[in-house]
Amino acid sequence: MKGVEVSLRAKLKDYTTIGIGGNAERMVFPRSIAEVCEIFSVERRAGVTVQTLGAGSNLLVSDNGVQGTVLCTKKHLSKVVFLGGCSVIAEAGVMLPRLAVLCALSNLSGIEPISGIPGTVGGALVLNAGAYGRRIGDLVEWVEIVDAEGVLHRVEAQAIWFGYRETAFPVHGAVVRAGFRFAEGTREVVFEQIRRWNEKRRTSHPWEEKSFGCAFRNPQGGESAGALLDRAGMRGEQEGDAYFSEKHANFLLNRGKATAADVCHLMNRGRKAVEEQFGVLLTPEVRMWGDFGA
Ligand SMILES: Cc1cc2nc3c(=O)[nH]c(=O)nc-3n(C[C@H](O)[C@H](O)[C@H](O)COP(=O)(O)OP(=O)(O)OC[C@H]3O[C@@H](n4cnc5c(N)ncnc54)[C@H](O)[C@@H]3O)c2cc1C
Repeated sequence: MKGVEVSLRAKLKDYTTIGIGGNAERMVFPRSIAEVCEIFSVERRAGVTVQTLGAGSNLLVSDNGVQGTVLCTKKHLSKVVFLGGCSVIAEAGVMLPRLAVLCALSNLSGIEPISGIPGTVGGALVLNAGAYGRRIGDLVEWVEIVDAEGVLHRVEAQAIWFGYRETAFPVHGAVVRAGFRFAEGTREVVFEQIRRWNEKRRTSHPWEEKSFGCAFRNPQGGESAGALLDRAGMRGEQEGDAYFSEKHANFLLNRGKATAADVCHLMNRGRKAVEEQFGVLLTPEVRMWGDFGA
């Protein structure tokens, strides 16, 4: 892997929005899709696992860190190409807020409701990130994925299942690039929509603090996870420096020195309280990397 940017024993807390986590044995920062293919191919032959990281905005990494290689898309895989006819190609590491601004500047509409999600295109596609009635899966035409052997595949949107905060691709691996189709819009109107959605977000979410967004998915049909946690008395509850936000009870925050173990304990307490009081079993929305015990 000559020429690939590598960091040994990288501190994953510096790469997650909640600011928690041990080290990655090795972290790589590919500059091109060809480099992603090479990394997967070389590591596969060496028997090393590769995990893909975007902006780390929906991730809890164990205090003991992770074995193997972490491939970070956010640093360099950030190209966006406007093709005309409302079609846009974005690499996996492009941040959604940046894509939204570039769309607005190009008079393209559609991404506004999800423009404030602090994740990458790749992470958003894997989780079918969404807000205010729009999900990224609604906008995508095709996705390119590098599989565990280092082979690049293009998958059309019809072959992908987009669910609630989850996506099933016919090929497993790292999302490296995607094609989107937006609608024609007017720059000023699109910017105004972005401003409006972000304002809404800022008034309802603890925006300034370290978090990974919602800890739990909303149960189907019934009350939101936040409302259930609130009624179960979890608003403001803490373990060490980890606590459930006073503003939005489903947002789990790091006041400073919280550990992954603190976060886990608190999530378990929240889950237990909601199950005991309302008979609803909450499912974590945050993805977890590393060893968290049984
Ligand atoms: C303040 C705040 C507000 C948020 N609001 C919302 C919201 O309104 N709606 C919403 O849906 N989410 C929200 N989130 C959660 C989060 O931003 C989204 O889930 C986002 O899409 C995660 O993208 P990421 O790049 O940060 O992924 P990461 O956190 O880096 O990764 C998450 C998972 O995706 C995998 N992954 C990442 N990139 C790739 C790739 N290229 N290929 C394959 N797998 C990959 C990782 O392996 C990991 O399992 C919020 C988070 C925060 C901190």
